[in-house]
Amino acid sequence: MQIYNSMDNQKQEFISIKPQEVSMYVCGPTVYNYIHLGNARPFVVFDTVRRYFEYKGYKVNYVQNFTDIDDKIINRAVEEKCSTIDVSKKYIKEALEDIKGLNIKEYTYTPKVTEEIESIINMISILEEKGFAYNINGTVYFDTSKYDEYGKLSKKDIEGLDIGNRVEFNSEKRNGTDFVLWKSKKENEPFWESPWGDGRPGWHIECSAMAKKYLGDTIDIHAGGQDLIFPHHENELAQSECANKKAFANYWMHNGFINIDNEKMSKSKNNFFIVRDIAKDFSYNTIRFFLLSVHYRSPINFTVELLKSSENSFNRINMCVINLEFIKNNTKRKEITNEELNLLKEIEKFVEKFEQKMDDDFNTADAISVIFEMIKFVNKNVNNESSIELCDDIINTIKKLCDVLGLIVKNESVDTISNSEIEELILKRQNAKKNKDFTLADEIRNNLLEKDIVIEDTRQGVKWYKR
Ligand SMILES: [Zn+2]
Repeated sequence: MQIYNSMDNQKQEFISIKPQEVSMYVCGPTVYNYIHLGNARPFVVFDTVRRYFEYKGYKVNYVQNFTDIDDKIINRAVEEKCSTIDVSKKYIKEALEDIKGLNIKEYTYTPKVTEEIESIINMISILEEKGFAYNINGTVYFDTSKYDEYGKLSKKDIEGLDIGNRVEFNSEKRNGTDFVLWKSKKENEPFWESPWGDGRPGWHIECSAMAKKYLGDTIDIHAGGQDLIFPHHENELAQSECANKKAFANYWMHNGFINIDNEKMSKSKNNFFIVRDIAKDFSYNTIRFFLLSVHYRSPINFTVELLKSSENSFNRINMCVINLEFIKNNTKRKEITNEELNLLKEIEKFVEKFEQKMDDDFNTADAISVIFEMIKFVNKNVNNESSIELCDDIINTIKKLCDVLGLIVKNESVDTISNSEIEELILKRQNAKKNKDFTLADEIRNNLLEKDIVIEDTRQGVKWYKR
């Protein structure tokens, strides 16, 4: 399996530290608001990486943290006249709801900064003892000049940055690129006791401390958004390697940016899309499909039209399974024929092709194309005479591949409206169409759509599914 390693800027064969086991650390969100599309992309991308490892028989230890103390959380608490804990608790709960909606598998650990202060203090103490940190009036900095390899991940011109930062900030730091490990207490801000006085951790140290605590000194894969490479991941790397004297991560994976209508998503442009808002008009499954329809390292452009076309594309998969279910329930043939066994061999070739695409740095865009090629093949070769066994086999294969991508194939009814009610409405619509009362026919279709029931006219009659 090949993974593009951002450390070396090239694809490399994946070799895990322990046989058939993978440790992954993915930087999680700062919880001061509902999660936006920029948070959702790494959630979905790296969950898919995990799912594919599991499909290949690996056991995956997956850690994603929540940053639950930070300037933004403090500001939000002031705005909402509540405590920082109230803010973080609320938005962790909301984030978990979206995470569940996006069909992200349960993380092995989800540590929170405020519950990990002890291991954070321990790590800062080690850095101080080893001479990599210095204390100025209760604020502790990492001394980047003591670490020769600083800059090796981001390949930044560290000297240039150093001088630039000095001119710009003229701070108490020894070097422009030095960063905070521990911030001394400010008035009205939450704080913890420490050997350097009351205060709170800097941002970067939390991930180094949590990765070490839950996954060990060296991890297989460290992942996150491209925007985290500098300074966050560069600083995590410096802290961990200086404290542990071991390589921090064997593979660094970074997902690309999200553009909104071809412009970079940013708060100042007010084009920051909240996942919960998108989920009002589109299913989480559609959002997930959309995010995986582009290679994870490429930028992805978000528009409502693209989401609509994602919905339509995925429905082709739904429809294929619905047709197979229909044939299965109506065919007289049970046993598989020799001719059908040959069809299954062809289907197996699509599965192999899907795996090849995923083995090539998790190319979900091409893997999805393979599923569509397979569906085209199925629609052409399966008919009302096909056997139950063949239909079952193909349905299972489609579902298996979709499951690797975390996509849910819908072919069952929902609770909000009973099956018989739906069938009744469909019959009513058929009659309306027969009587050329297209207004009524459309009305029935739209009413069902409001209940998330999609009806489609197919060669085998009217089919419906929950979107
Ligand atoms: Zn991090």
